[in-house]
Amino acid sequence: MSRVGFVTADAYFGHESFVDFGPDVEPGAQLETPEPRKRLLRLLTKTGAVDACEPIATMALTRADLERVHTREYLDAFERLSAGPGGELGDYAGFGHGSYEIAVLSAGGVTAAATAVWRNDVERAFALVRPPGHHAEPDRARGYCLLANIPIAVQHLRAHHELGRVAIIDWDVHHGNGAQRIYYSDPETLTVSVHQEELYPVDSGFITEVGEGPATGTNVNIPLPAGCGMGAYRDAFSRLVEPTVRHFRPDLLIVACGYDPGLLDPSSQMAVPARGFGEFTRRMMMLADELCGGRLVVAQEGGYSPLHSPFCGTAVVHALLGWEHLPVDPNPADDDAPEQRLHPWQAEAVTAAMEAARKSGALPR
Ligand SMILES: [Zn+2]
Repeated sequence: MSRVGFVTADAYFGHESFVDFGPDVEPGAQLETPEPRKRLLRLLTKTGAVDACEPIATMALTRADLERVHTREYLDAFERLSAGPGGELGDYAGFGHGSYEIAVLSAGGVTAAATAVWRNDVERAFALVRPPGHHAEPDRARGYCLLANIPIAVQHLRAHHELGRVAIIDWDVHHGNGAQRIYYSDPETLTVSVHQEELYPVDSGFITEVGEGPATGTNVNIPLPAGCGMGAYRDAFSRLVEPTVRHFRPDLLIVACGYDPGLLDPSSQMAVPARGFGEFTRRMMMLADELCGGRLVVAQEGGYSPLHSPFCGTAVVHALLGWEHLPVDPNPADDDAPEQRLHPWQAEAVTAAMEAARKSGALPR
């Protein structure tokens, strides 16, 4: 049996995001569409990665599963609008008819992946779900995210399978505001977000947001300046992400995996090549091996380039499988290219975040 679980469902590709950009942008010109994920699934099928993984079925979640994270009022409104033509319940988070059921299935996909890993049915798992979840807050949708997929999975495991300490590592280029808000006063959940500074949401993701009360030191933000490639990301992982997770000692590691730090992403200004996402994944595998019996869940979040993001996702899944080879990257980038080198202002941003983490207790003082 394969030790890597893989979740996906046809329904995920039927969900339509909708953002009204005003009268000058023709309807249908959306950033978040099914196409990048469809292409990822086709590429993973072509490389043999899907066949090499253990298929995991999505889990049917109950309303009680959702209410561990979201308010009843929000869920009622979402269900009602989704039964009609759709609507919008937050910024940049419009949806169409039937999206409620698909969003529940998306959260159910991450929950199924996390359950399989926690029960040791597989060692690691990848959840190719849609819509994404890391911006969703208890009482509102945000940034294409309708339900908080990862927190719903975590709270399900805590309710049914005695899960204890969890570390959520979010490398999507946008701030992981959802998990931050949901777990801001929970000392059992470490939330670490590496993102482009003041991108989205513009008013969160700062180094001063460190958790509160007994959870002080369990929220770590690493806002990086625009233009970072592998040099800056390696610096952030080595000096801050990994030491923080080691210091916290989780029982389970979950990655909020976006490909939008990718060098062709239309929603950001970072420069991570496709192979970089494989490297991030291998680093998380080593950390999981060291700290929590290898238990690692990777959940799909953003990434909007139909050309580039399938290669980024393939690098992630191949890494999970322990495969070295990758399909030919249409945009390879050498480590010594200017956008890949570590520049002083990037190292300074990591140092500032480290100092905040030391002060909060996220890192040893
Ligand atoms: Zn994103």
